[in-house]
Amino acid sequence: MSVKMDHIGIAVQSLQQAMPKYRALLQKEPDHVEEVPGQGVKVAMFRAGDSSIELLEPLGPDSPIARHIAKRGEGIHHICLAVENMDAVLKEAEQAGLEIIPQKDDRGAGGHRIAFLHPKSTGGVLIELVEK
Ligand code: ZN
Repeated sequence: MSVKMDHIGIAVQSLQQAMPKYRALLQKEPDHVEEVPGQGVKVAMFRAGDSSIELLEPLGPDSPIARHIAKRGEGIHHICLAVENMDAVLKEAEQAGLEIIPQKDDRGAGGHRIAFLHPKSTGGVLIELVEK
């Protein structure tokens, strides 16, 4: 069962302002741009080698990304690991003392199943898991 680095999520106020900078830095257009209403975000995904950079813009003031920016400003919001078997990984994580954040909608960008591990149980980093 292999677990791989999938992407790093960066909270930004405005994709319109952030995208041209990342386009210049990464020398490419985003691989996809998508609204994910269930997570309250609009995302722009830039593949960079084996992993990606995901820019996250809040869809509204209630978005978790809006709350993150209000509290901490723009910046790294989460890292994401790709897993093959979400149920097995969540079971192991829970047994190891990692706290799974309950959520209403477990679908992320691309319709993939996702889960989040609470930063207070991971050493201060919000970790997203995606099953691909
Ligand atoms: Zn993500």
